Parts: sequence; structure tokens; C-alpha cells
Amino acid sequence: LPEQEAFDIEYWLLEEAKLQRMPKPKALAGRIAIVTGGAGGIGAATAEKYLSEGACVILADIDAEALGATHENLAGRYSKDVVRIVEMNVTSEDAVAAAYAEMAVEFGGVDIVVSNAGIASSAKVEDTTLDLWNKNMSILSTGYFLVSREAFKMLKTQGIGGSMIFVASKNGLAASPGASAYCTAKASEIHLARCLALEGAPEGIRVNTVNPDAVLRGSKIWSGEWLDQRASTYGTDKGGLEEMYRERSLLKRSVFPEDIAAACYFFASDESAKSTGNIINVDAGNVQSFTR
Ligand code: NAD
Repeated sequence: LPEQEAFDIEYWLLEEAKLQRMPKPKALAGRIAIVTGGAGGIGAATAEKYLSEGACVILADIDAEALGATHENLAGRYSKDVVRIVEMNVTSEDAVAAAYAEMAVEFGGVDIVVSNAGIASSAKVEDTTLDLWNKNMSILSTGYFLVSREAFKMLKTQGIGGSMIFVASKNGLAASPGASAYCTAKASEIHLARCLALEGAPEGIRVNTVNPDAVLRGSKIWSGEWLDQRASTYGTDKGGLEEMYRERSLLKRSVFPEDIAAACYFFASDESAKSTGNIINVDAGNVQSFTR
């Protein structure tokens, strides 16, 4: 090589090496996220993933005590400045609107909205009372609608797009024995996400769905009535259920809150800039999806 050219190449390589050593900005730096059901389980894991990627996060939940404990944990490891809590019942129009108003004051807006607050219920259809049916519809289907409606208002006013993520369920696609109210409510969340993707696209608002299969560890759902009912439906205990779900997956692996958080991170970040109205099933390859 002529001397000058060799020098230029060496100089360029040195500059490149310097760039490689420079700290990279975090993927969600400067973004504001709200996570409903953020007091524990999948919501808290998602909040933590977002914080680790540089976002400011608001945890919204009906459970004040669990919110306080999760806040203490996350604020201790990140900072009080980047993680806040708001007590909110997703079925209340007023509470949801107040949470967004608070967000506007505290952080100046929102970029990422995760609808995740939820319950699970199990009952054969003849044992499903109207109250139980309405409870599922109200917390899951209507709750996701109310949180999304306020999000749309705020995101459209801001005019810089945004990402909305629905944590629905594999049970919204596949029927599960003795859980018609839950499955139907989850199916409606998945369809609502598609409708909102259509409505939001012209404004750059993306709406995607993450469908977890059973996440037994770290989830409050799997410590109460749902666990007892599922265990009796399948004639086993929590350990047996965990093994059953693992065995029916192609990868023979259990799904954890962090696995769902990873998919929620993908849809929140610019890595998924070309995805809307899409679904990621996080189920380690549920065999039933391949045999139906
Ligand atoms: P979880 O019980 O640990 O967390 C759910 C959170 O939602 C709780 O903190 C609860 O207090 C909150 N919540 C319930 N009702 C609320 C209301 N009206 N307003 C505000 N907050 C409310 O359960 P999880 O496993 O982390 O579930 C999160 C989401 O994932 C739910 O929508 C659930 O249906 C879905 N999901 C869970 C599984 C699983 O196996 N764990 C599987 C598929 C889908």
C-alpha cells in the first residue's frame, strides 16, 4: 500500500476502535413507560427490563402493598427518579384518567404502554356465574380498553407515535378446559390490539400482543384459586402442572416472567419498528399449536 493510504487505514481503524469502546446509549433511554399490573409477576419483570434499558417506568396496580414492596426493590437498585408507582384499578375510568394525568405532570407524557393487569379464573360454563363472567370481562377486556383509550389520547396529542403492548395469553387463541370466561376475555384483548393497530398506524402508534403460556413462578395468579382449580382439573399439584407445561413444549422448558419481559422489550424498542398488529407467543413451542 502507498504510505498515505496505509496511514489512513490505520487511523480509521483506531477511530473505529475508539467508537467501539464508547458506552452505547441504552435502547429505551429517554422513554417513559407505564406498566399495569406492575406490582409483581410479569409486570414487575417487564418494568425491570425497561429500567435496565434506560426507561423511566410507572408501575400501576390495584395492590398498594405489593406496589410499595416492588417500588422499594426497584428504586433501590435503579433510582427513585426513574421508577414511580400509581395505585390504579384498571376497571375505573376515573382512576385510569387520573393515572395518565399524573404521568403528564411527573414525566411530561408517555411512550410505552403495557396492558398487563389481570386475573385468571377457572370454572365450567354451567358453574360460571354472571358475576364471574363480568369480572373477567371488566378487568381483562374492559381494563385493556380503558388503559388504551387514555393512551391513544395522550400519544396522539404528543404526536410522536408510541408503542402499546398487550400481555394477553395463549388461552386467547386456544381454548382451555373450564376457563371459558378467561379465554373469551383474553381473545377479546388480542382482537382489540389488532383493531388499535389499524387505528394507530397513521399516527405511528404501534400495538402488539405478547401471549404467555403458563408462567407458574413469580405469578400471584398461580398461588390462589386458579392454581387449585387447574390442579384439580388436571389431577396434579403445582410441581406436576409445571412439569406438564414443560413436557408439552417442544423445547421442554418452563416459561418465566423474564421471558415475557424480553418479548415486551422487543415490542417497546425500535428493534420492532416495523411490527404492529403482531403477536409473539412465548410458550417454548407449545405442542398443541402444532397439532391442531
Ligand atoms: P400476577 O397476579 O402476578 O400479576 C397481575 C397483577 O395485576 C397483580 O399485581 C394484580 O394486583 C394486578 N391487578 C389485578 N386486577 C387489577 C385491577 N383491576 N387493576 C389494576 N391491577 C390489577 O399475574 P401475572 O402472571 O404476572 O399476570 C400478568 C398478565 O399475564 C395477566 O393479564 C395474565 O392474565 C397474563 N397471563 C399470565 C399467565 C401466567 O401463567 N402467569 C399466562 C398467560 C397470561
